[in-house]
Order: sequence, then C-alpha cells, then structure tokens
Amino acid sequence: MARLDRATALYPGSFDPVHNGHMDIILRARRVFGRVVVGVATNIEKRTMFSAEERVSMLRGATAGYRGVEVQAFDGLTVDFARRIGARVIVKGLRAMMDFEFELKMAAMNKRLEPDIETVFMMTSPEYAYLSSTLIREVSQFGGSVAGLVPPAVERRLRQVARSARKVSR
Ligand code: ADP
Repeated sequence: MARLDRATALYPGSFDPVHNGHMDIILRARRVFGRVVVGVATNIEKRTMFSAEERVSMLRGATAGYRGVEVQAFDGLTVDFARRIGARVIVKGLRAMMDFEFELKMAAMNKRLEPDIETVFMMTSPEYAYLSSTLIREVSQFGGSVAGLVPPAVERRLRQVARSARKVSR
C-alpha cells in the first residue's frame, strides 16, 4: 500500500448542497491523505435542488485555497471513477445510526466490484451528527436560517433561491 500522505482518496457524494459536515470530512481526510478528490455524483436518481455544475462550483468555492483538494463531477460507478483518478481509497462520512446500513451495503458492493479499493469511514464530528443536505434544503425553503451550517456563499445562494421561490408563489 502506498504511503498515506502520497495516496489519493475519493470522497463521493451528491453535495446538494455542500454543508459543514461535508467540509469537516474533507479537511480531516486531507490531513490523512495527500490528495483528496471530492467527487460530485451527477447521475443520482434523486432529483436535486442544484444542478451538477452548481454543486461543483459551490464546492470549488468552499475549498478554494485548500492544497491537495480537488472537486470533480462524475457519473457511473464510484469505483470506476476512483480507478480513473488513481484512488485506492474511498472516504465516507458516518453520522448517527442513519448512515450505517446503507454505507455497509455500498462498501460491500464496491469491494466486490473492485477488491483493490478500500472504503474508509470517518465518524462525524458531534456538532454535525444531525446535519444533512435534505435538512438544509428544507429549513432554507421555509425561510429558516442555515448560517453556520453551510459555507457563507452557499448560505447566500440558498437565501436567493428561497426568495425567488416565495416571489413565484405570491
Ligand atoms: P447528505 O446525506 O448530507 O445529503 P451526501 O449524500 O452528499 O450528503 O453525502 C456525501 C458523504 O458525506 C456521505 O459519505 C455522507 O455519509 C457524508 N456526510 C453527510 N453529512 C455528514 C455529516 N453531517 N457528518 C459526516 N459525514 C456526512
């Protein structure tokens, strides 16, 4: 196995939008691995609030100046993308109980598809344990503040979206 500080790790997700729980995992992953590629999944089944371009651009803005962190969009299998970018490790964040079953299933399937790639889990920091993009979207759509839970530019963008949705419904 390559030395960790020279290894590339892939951190995949939908990031719709990126929040501080994600940012925390990106920073901690970067402390362990030399290069962290944040992979924005574009072929996800769920309908997203933000387009793939916007999700990538919000992440690029939030990680600007982070050495060793890149943001790339991908579609298709996560393990295929990991192989393409030379990542032998997939990093996933784990919140309370809600992520465990799903992530266990995904890790087992990915191992079967690509035995050379390891999935590594990082436990959420307690302050982000209940944070999810779904919750962020819901709160901001109803006019609630998500300040301190998402990067500032994401907060501004969410406020803009909520304002224009309210104008349309008037
Ligand atoms: P969300 O579940 O917030 O919509 P994604 O599907 O984009 O986020 O998740 C991408 C990755 O980030 C997954 O590995 C997920 O478990 C992890 N993650 C999401 N929220 C948190 C959090 N609050 N703390 C730690 N990891 C998280």
